[in-house]
Amino acid sequence: MSKRDYYEVLGVTKTATTVEIKKAYRKAAVEHHPDKNPDDPEAEERFKEAGEAYEILSDEEKRAAYDRFGHAAFSGGAGPRTHDPFDIFREVFGGGGGGGIFEGLFGGGGRRGGDNRGADLRYDLQITLEEAATGTEKELELEKAAICKACDGTGSTAESGQTTCPTCGGHGQVISSRGFFQVQQTCPECRGSGQIIKDPCKVCGGDGRVEELSRIKLKIPAGIAHGSRIRSTGNGEAGRRGGGAGDLYVVVHVKEHDVFERDENDLFCEVPIAFATAALGGELEVPTLEGRSSIKIPPGTQDGTVFRLRDRGVQFLNSQRKGDLMVQVQVEVPTRLNKEQREKLQDFASSIGEKNSPLHESFFEKAKRFFK
Ligand SMILES: [Zn+2]
Ligand SMILES: [Zn+2]
Repeated sequence: MSKRDYYEVLGVTKTATTVEIKKAYRKAAVEHHPDKNPDDPEAEERFKEAGEAYEILSDEEKRAAYDRFGHAAFSGGAGPRTHDPFDIFREVFGGGGGGGIFEGLFGGGGRRGGDNRGADLRYDLQITLEEAATGTEKELELEKAAICKACDGTGSTAESGQTTCPTCGGHGQVISSRGFFQVQQTCPECRGSGQIIKDPCKVCGGDGRVEELSRIKLKIPAGIAHGSRIRSTGNGEAGRRGGGAGDLYVVVHVKEHDVFERDENDLFCEVPIAFATAALGGELEVPTLEGRSSIKIPPGTQDGTVFRLRDRGVQFLNSQRKGDLMVQVQVEVPTRLNKEQREKLQDFASSIGEKNSPLHESFFEKAKRFFK
């Protein structure tokens, strides 16, 4: 597939201003963010494409080069991308440093600390709707590789610690001959690190780390969506022999609520209402995330009517704004009437006749032409 024009990717003209380019990028990035499109494998490609286009077009020098030479301007080396598209996203959207919401699991490029870096870990966390709405702090417990305290992560008990690998001379790679070919492979002695341990630590066997139960505090921001990922930097596995730690990715699952259904920042719930209250009007007690509240029911309220309670929904992420709470009433028809109640209801029915029933009237108005 040939590379698309950067202006086309962002949907802007060649004369677009920096502000227009930024705006266009924001729109595209939100639309195609992999977190928002978990079932669309192409979304991440479009997200990366937008990040790349923005990186070039938002930089005066790079943009000028692109305008003159097109994609050929960056064809040398590994292509124009010098940044992780998620970094660009954070930069433009101002996500927090140590744990922005819109951070993705991103294998491959950009690993720090070479072969010794600890692995990234994933943790699935369940929270309640109330916790998602107000934000919370959680302590996660997980078994993971942590720095060995006996050797302080060096893997060696001796003062001298590590020494250059005699097999590869510190390169980490060795060249061997196989027939006509020379093959370069990871040094079997030092496993690519270029260093060997003189007196391996007895606790960790020279690895510099041990499995242990770790407790990690994590802030969950108010308004977090189901399926969001939070990166906890440096809280993945410890690195081998003092290598950098991996990151911990926490995937947040919001449990279903008994009463409320959530649609982004709005909440929805059904509340039964007595048939007499619906006809006569009155107060109706309704649940909210903050506790009980009440709404006024006007006389003649029909089954299925929705009442909107402003700002009683879920807080928007990184904002003080809140969604609304929608209460839909279900008019209940009484069952198990006693003799007196049945008689009164029969009296009522004969007094009202079939008039004064708005739906009934308009239905028969429409049905008339069929009954002629
Ligand atoms: Zn070696
Ligand atoms: Zn050790």
